[in-house]
Amino acid sequence: MAFVRQAIPLGIDTGIGLESSAVRARLVARLAKEVKNPAVLEAMQAVERHRFVDSALVTQAYEDTALPIGFGQTISKPNVVARMIELLLNGHSRFSGKVLEIGAGCGYQAAVLGQLARHVFSIERIDGLVIKARANLKACEYTNVQVRLGDGMLGFPDVAPYVAIISAAGGEAIPQTWLDQLAMGGRLVAPSWAGNRQQALVVIDKTPNGFVQSILEPVQFVPLKSGILA
Ligand code: SAH
Repeated sequence: MAFVRQAIPLGIDTGIGLESSAVRARLVARLAKEVKNPAVLEAMQAVERHRFVDSALVTQAYEDTALPIGFGQTISKPNVVARMIELLLNGHSRFSGKVLEIGAGCGYQAAVLGQLARHVFSIERIDGLVIKARANLKACEYTNVQVRLGDGMLGFPDVAPYVAIISAAGGEAIPQTWLDQLAMGGRLVAPSWAGNRQQALVVIDKTPNGFVQSILEPVQFVPLKSGILA
């Protein structure tokens, strides 16, 4: 029997639903070579990354690259998002409490976190991106993710502590406020220069015996900046 397979280009006005799911599945299959936690892969499959990028970039949404989101910032690479969330989950399939993200950007990573946690709080210092992230999350009906304008270097003490804290921007050091706002048994994953010449992923666990830090592979994140841009 003849089988006609019609390619539907990704785009706002086309039937992107099924087609984007297939394209995303190919991306997730590539991610699965390094990321082993099935819950992370399911969340990456569920979140429609093309809805978080500008319409001109939609066709690149499922390439494993960072893309511009305006204001000189970028949406993180899918493999970096998946890797960091896998580290943050530390072998679990869901977060057992509140999650704090520093650097909402366009809201994509917050949405992936939203698949895995009951409540996600994300702080963004650029007002234009707060508006963008909120609109993107609303369009995808993520009601458990709250985006706030603020200086993430101060964390978000209002609803602390968090079982997990993740930063999408890298500073010279890990702010003490983040460590203070981490729940006992909680984990923080962030890029940091940590006194080195190379920015690297840092994992910090808050244990009854104190903080335990691991420095992992080199990474390239946008800088963690203080103050807000309204
Ligand atoms: N998670 C985002 C990645 C955005 S890039 C996404 O999925 O799209 C990192 C973001 O961190 C940028 O939007 C930048 O404005 C923000 N950022 C940098 N320093 C910050 C700070 N001190 N507080 C809050 N956000 C900050």
